[in-house]
Amino acid sequence: MSVEERAEALASDLGVDKEEVRADLENLVAYSVPIDEAVQSLRRKYGGGSGGAPEPTAKSVAEITVDDTSVTIEARVLTAGKRSIRYQGSEQVITEGTLADASGRIDFTAWEEFGLSPGDTVSVGNASVREWDGEPELNLGESTTVATRDEPLDVPYEVGGESALADVTPGDRGLTVEARVIEVEERTIDGRDGETEILSGVLGDESTRLPFTDWEPRPEIAEGASLRLENVYVREFRGVPSINCSEFTEVSGLDRAIDTAESAPRKGVGEAVAGGGAFDVELVGAVVSVRDGSGLIQRCPECSRVIQKGQCRSHGAVDGVDDLRVKAILDDGTGSVTAILGTDLTNEVYGGDVEDAKAQAREAMDQEVVADAIRESIVGREYRVRGSLSVDEYGANLNATEFEAVSDSPEARARALLSEVGA
Ligand SMILES: [Zn+2]
Repeated sequence: MSVEERAEALASDLGVDKEEVRADLENLVAYSVPIDEAVQSLRRKYGGGSGGAPEPTAKSVAEITVDDTSVTIEARVLTAGKRSIRYQGSEQVITEGTLADASGRIDFTAWEEFGLSPGDTVSVGNASVREWDGEPELNLGESTTVATRDEPLDVPYEVGGESALADVTPGDRGLTVEARVIEVEERTIDGRDGETEILSGVLGDESTRLPFTDWEPRPEIAEGASLRLENVYVREFRGVPSINCSEFTEVSGLDRAIDTAESAPRKGVGEAVAGGGAFDVELVGAVVSVRDGSGLIQRCPECSRVIQKGQCRSHGAVDGVDDLRVKAILDDGTGSVTAILGTDLTNEVYGGDVEDAKAQAREAMDQEVVADAIRESIVGREYRVRGSLSVDEYGANLNATEFEAVSDSPEARARALLSEVGA
């Protein structure tokens, strides 16, 4: 639309004289005000139209509530990350991030390309407000205007989204992290477009370790590499934050090696469970009991799930593969979790491997003797357990990577005894 056409539409919308509106509009455009913004300001000047949508209100970020329909703000772009999504059947690139002014921060999703970059100061006109998790967020769409300001807005927040791994939270977008690749493997998954190759593994920095997924496998992401990953987003995976690299993520090698945390943060069991999961955590407590499904077990050869009486829930009757496992209840007085020990750790606490376990079971003509032997060895003792904690509908489970006796304390024995009598 030409300026004249815009003026005519606006004049009829506002019910005011067309020539007057056109003169004003031409004047603003001559001063390099973007046309959409000029129209907005004339709408304000002439007091809004009768039939149009409600005028967006100019607000500070902290003033925006979920009851607002649309707002106009002046803000600094803290982060802006691109992501490709499938929306109404077609591929669409969106930009997600955080805007801030002196009063607060707000997350946004831009459905059009506005060229937003971290550090930009922008006037955002007519952004619609939606509710997410009880908090307001902004949607920048077709009817939104974005004008870049030369004068940077002072905000009490870090611009650019650089973050230590320990500080990321699910939902974060457009972040930059510097980390070392601790583990990486190539996997084939059933994606939305059929079979897709991805990379998954573990990243570490001085603060902690986190799982990651690279949806566009890159050769730079190799074990041991110290990398800068720009424009990543964070999702929740099995109850813990996970770093995601998309096609828009920029990966570059660092000329320094990143130190990774050797030990996991130690937490109280109650505190850890209340925190809702952690990828790498250390808990200390007494083993108060060993649950059913421990000792000598059989797994489905297809999906590795534990099977009962030769039946897999997904694959029906199968020839089970023997394995060893422990599900131990660990309690420190503040809470309890189920520590799950895989084959290797179970070998250690059992003092033998799966062949020894099968021999023992054959001799006793009872598979349960293996679990009983493990019970005998660990219940009533105190352990330091490191692993990945997930808290969900299956309860609080700690997949152990380390399991080490710290003492045979009277307190641990007392707690085990209390647990046995059901206290
Ligand atoms: Zn199966």
